[in-house]
Amino acid sequence: MTFNDLGLRSQVVSAVTDMGFEQPTPIQEQAIPHLLKSQSDFVGLAQTGTGKTAAFGLPLVHRITSSQRFPKGLIICPTRELCLQIANDLKDYSKHEKSVTIEAVYGGTDIRTQMRNIKKGVAIVVATPGRLVDLINRKAVNLSEVECVVLDEADEMLNMGFKEDLDYILDATPDTKSTWLFSATMPKEVARIAKTYMTDPLEVSIGNKNEANENIDHIYFAVKERDRYAGLKRLIDFNPNIFGLVFCRTRRETQQVAEKLGKDGYSADALHGDMSQAQRDRVMQLFRNRSIQLLVATDVAARGIDVDDITHVINYNLPDEVENYTHRSGRTARAGRKGESLVLINTREKYKINQIEKIINQKFTFAEIPPPEAICAIQLEAMIEKVKDTEVNEKEIEPFIPHILEDLKDYSKEDVIKKFVSAEFNRFLEYYKKAGDLNAKISDKDSGRGRDRGRSRGSDENKQRFFVSLGEKDGLNPGGLLRVICDATGLKSNTIGRIDIMPAFSFFDADKGDTDKILAQVNGAEFEGKKMNIEKTASKSSKGKRGTGHGKRQGRGLGGRRGGGRNRRR
Ligand code: AMP
Repeated sequence: MTFNDLGLRSQVVSAVTDMGFEQPTPIQEQAIPHLLKSQSDFVGLAQTGTGKTAAFGLPLVHRITSSQRFPKGLIICPTRELCLQIANDLKDYSKHEKSVTIEAVYGGTDIRTQMRNIKKGVAIVVATPGRLVDLINRKAVNLSEVECVVLDEADEMLNMGFKEDLDYILDATPDTKSTWLFSATMPKEVARIAKTYMTDPLEVSIGNKNEANENIDHIYFAVKERDRYAGLKRLIDFNPNIFGLVFCRTRRETQQVAEKLGKDGYSADALHGDMSQAQRDRVMQLFRNRSIQLLVATDVAARGIDVDDITHVINYNLPDEVENYTHRSGRTARAGRKGESLVLINTREKYKINQIEKIINQKFTFAEIPPPEAICAIQLEAMIEKVKDTEVNEKEIEPFIPHILEDLKDYSKEDVIKKFVSAEFNRFLEYYKKAGDLNAKISDKDSGRGRDRGRSRGSDENKQRFFVSLGEKDGLNPGGLLRVICDATGLKSNTIGRIDIMPAFSFFDADKGDTDKILAQVNGAEFEGKKMNIEKTASKSSKGKRGTGHGKRQGRGLGGRRGGGRNRRR
């Protein structure tokens, strides 16, 4: 199916084509034909990122054929960010048609300009509830000719306490209008709005009503409270190409984490309600054009952020209201892409994970905070990728080359490489040399793993963890690694503990007493023609059974390379 088949007029189709949309998304395919033809009300249940804006925006633009004095269309959404985004999208959809004028009205900015623009005559108003109520009270907006009201992210608006404002606004619109409601979930309050304000709506649901986005991997890590920040840094460092949102619980915490990250050399900035509108706009602009890699935000400030390609959402702290987790994680994996939502919990917060699992209808994966060796290996690899991808500006660099070559003439190629790598990488190595294992044991009451405790603890203390220089990309799997170890040493396979295969390297646990034997005989062994280096890791051996698949998953998830090789360190 194409946009032409949906019944939209040619100017709208051409605008959509200009935007690079080739095919309608499922919600668009189901909503648009109905919203074009029928005057009836409509409920669309779809996650954010599924193309909702065009699902209501295109038919709305299509319905407007001449210049309007009073608005024909009214879109109400929870935040200023979203309001601006919707207005911009609508301007794109209507770029071939002068008659479709659009005005965004939202709080935190001069109301008089908005009033003046509305007075000139606009076809569609996109508004946040508070500011719209203000405009209605000032008689600055006339909603008597509204034919269609869209309630976007209705569940969010109710979460944010806009129920009374919505009632007030809807009462100010004609009874004859159509109401289109979009929501990610259908809690009772949204159902009540639908029941009170809508007549026999057509309900379209993309996926299960309360189903979370399948493209998001939810992963949690346990640290001691005092290691939360160090844990965050590791998660970031383990993903050199991260483009992420870090969520904190309070404005103060948001500011502090952003400042610390900045001091530690990360490309990060804060977004929270204590900042002026101009500051927030500036930060959003930087994030949007990727001048910063990490946006540290509060729930409220980040609502409605619609930035594509966010690779990770990191929950530095879980929200007080666990229901808000969905809105956080929904900022990644947009428009069919994959994403990860990582959660740092302390040893007493496991119950929150259980609560969220019920809400999102999806299971979390437990993963360990990656050890220093793994992070160094991944960072180094990313750096080498970056070097390989770097374009050489021959013309500009040429005059310097003879002198540089002369200066380095006494060094071998290998020495030069080592020196360049060290110049970039020593600071990193230095930091991680002193860094230990950050993983904390979840309290038994919360983890439900109490029964195994004595046995596992006893055996863990007798285990040594080893780093292996080959990983999934070398074709290594737990069985293969086990074979190499046992063939080289003659050890029985049941003496080897947990095995974690990651994309570029691996780990395994073995009895402490076998350490020397393993180092002497497995180090340098070959796997499918490739030499395998083995080192002892500083971290304690990890818990869990070998070959549960968890390690592999962790590797795939956290280590997933996303091309580019951009290094965030300054
Ligand atoms: P939304 O759910 O409206 O926030 O849309 C999520 C993202 O998907 C936005 O970046 C849109 O530009 C993009 N998008 C919406 N519809 C389509 C489509 N039919 N084809 C490709 N991308 C789309």
